Amino acid sequence: MLILMQSDHTKKQLADVLAKVRKLKLQPHVIPGKQSVAVGITGNSSALDPHLFDSLPGVREAVRVSRPYKLSGRDFKHEDTIIPIGNYRLGGPDLIVIAGPCAVESEEQMLRIAHAVKKAGAQMLRGGAFKPRTSPYAFQGLGKKGLQLLAKARKETGLPIVTEVLDQRSLDDVAEYADVLQVGARNMQNFALLKEIGKLRKPVMLKRGLSATLDEWLMSAEYLLSEGNKNVFLCERGIRAFSDHARNTLDLNVVPAVKELSHLPIIVDPSHATGVRARVAPMARAAVAAGAHGLMIEVHDRPDQALCDGPQALHPDDFAILMRDIAAIGAALGRKLATPVYGSK
Ligand code: PEP
Ligand code: MN
Repeated sequence: MLILMQSDHTKKQLADVLAKVRKLKLQPHVIPGKQSVAVGITGNSSALDPHLFDSLPGVREAVRVSRPYKLSGRDFKHEDTIIPIGNYRLGGPDLIVIAGPCAVESEEQMLRIAHAVKKAGAQMLRGGAFKPRTSPYAFQGLGKKGLQLLAKARKETGLPIVTEVLDQRSLDDVAEYADVLQVGARNMQNFALLKEIGKLRKPVMLKRGLSATLDEWLMSAEYLLSEGNKNVFLCERGIRAFSDHARNTLDLNVVPAVKELSHLPIIVDPSHATGVRARVAPMARAAVAAGAHGLMIEVHDRPDQALCDGPQALHPDDFAILMRDIAAIGAALGRKLATPVYGSK
């Protein structure tokens, strides 16, 4: 339910509406708008009767919101969400590129690649310290030591860091170091973890599940938002389909679909979506053309020695070429690569 207040409503009338919602043991969300204020209601397990609210003083209209996701949908919040991350803003017209290795492997490796992606113009640095691997025998990440190396790379380059949180046990550690908490594809429906992350205010990048529908994905975002964390953005990373020529199938169609239904920013990860180095740049360029707010690209300067996802990693030189191409495609669409809001380090 969405309650639209009259443009000349008084503070007392709004307070009375909020009180009535709370009396029904539901949660009101005040949404400031251009014309007037709206109040979104969550917490009801069945449809509410608009007449409960539309006769209250100061109320213009009470409308049912039929979509299952409320806080992540445009019905509740029409304006695009813009998320401050370090010196950048994600979700506006400027493009954000997150780049770095799949996994933090060593201090030398992390610092070399961090400097290389910074030089090429990346806005943020990625690297997994806790890795979700298909095989229990594969490299699982450096854990807390990996987080410390990321922090060192941030200190040297000034780039905010994006890193995955695998479980509730490591959440406090990851939240202490990361600028953005990455929820991986395999955890998209780990609802217990989402609820815990939702209690924080740290930006969250929610990757799409291996075979999640758009509704399921937005419902997972809803878990984060309904706990109070509004700094959520989405990352399309390819889904499982019948195609067997690539690691996954990049669903670029979902970019305009998300932008239509949701105010949350959406970026694209063509590295996991293709799994093949030669296809990363073409799909990255297409993602920018399709209107993504940014990209996440895996980069490694010694991909043949990488402990994780070497075959899809771009060499820093190729990443630098991609950055130039993205800038050109963005420019054709009136968008540019983001520059720091308060000046660079
Ligand atoms: C990653 O970003 O390194 C990763 C594991 O991604 P995903 O969860 O999309 O597989
Ligand atoms: Mn990876």
